[in-house]
Amino acid sequence: MSNVTVIDHPLVQHKLTLIRKKDTSCNKFRTILREISTLLAYEVTRDLPLRHEEIETPMAAMNAPILDGKKIVLVSILRAGNGILDGMLQLLPSARVGHIGIYRDPKTLTAVEYYFKMPPEMSSRDVIIVDPMLATGHSAVAAVNRIKSLKPQSIKFVCLVAAPEGIRELQSEHPDLQIYTAAVDERLNSHGYIIPGLGDAGDRIYGTK
Ligand code: URA
Repeated sequence: MSNVTVIDHPLVQHKLTLIRKKDTSCNKFRTILREISTLLAYEVTRDLPLRHEEIETPMAAMNAPILDGKKIVLVSILRAGNGILDGMLQLLPSARVGHIGIYRDPKTLTAVEYYFKMPPEMSSRDVIIVDPMLATGHSAVAAVNRIKSLKPQSIKFVCLVAAPEGIRELQSEHPDLQIYTAAVDERLNSHGYIIPGLGDAGDRIYGTK
């Protein structure tokens, strides 16, 4: 699958298995999701541009690498995307954060937007959209459509578990988009849930249901 990076680092895979288990508590789920998100952020930012800056260490002057460009924007697709934010912000503490509220109409499974708030100057920023589950792909497509209209420098999409159907849908609408996921699962069920997946990510993060 072109433009899809499966983050197969053993720590990510191990931790993903722990949160897939149905008996993993809400507390543990949240903690491990935060840990995984930090590891995902590390992989997703691998190609960030660097510039060089003259600095002085206590020993000598040197020309040292430092991140170049505007601040990254992490865009959380509410509400489950917020479960990924904390871990990513630990590694990217200066990142700005945008939120997009999209719910799935349970009958049609189509995406309906109810909230949209982004930082200013989006056209000069690099955007990382986060949502733990790429299921039908409808919310992801709606989010990318909306963000693209703001003409950012780049957009990446990061999830934890993707269904092949969701990847296909997102790629057919946005073939240029880089997708990062820790796993590509078997399929969707008739309710749009990923099999085997991990259940409803929002419910597992927040203890709702
Ligand atoms: N959203 C979830 O939280 N889980 C799924 O399996 C699919 C969509």
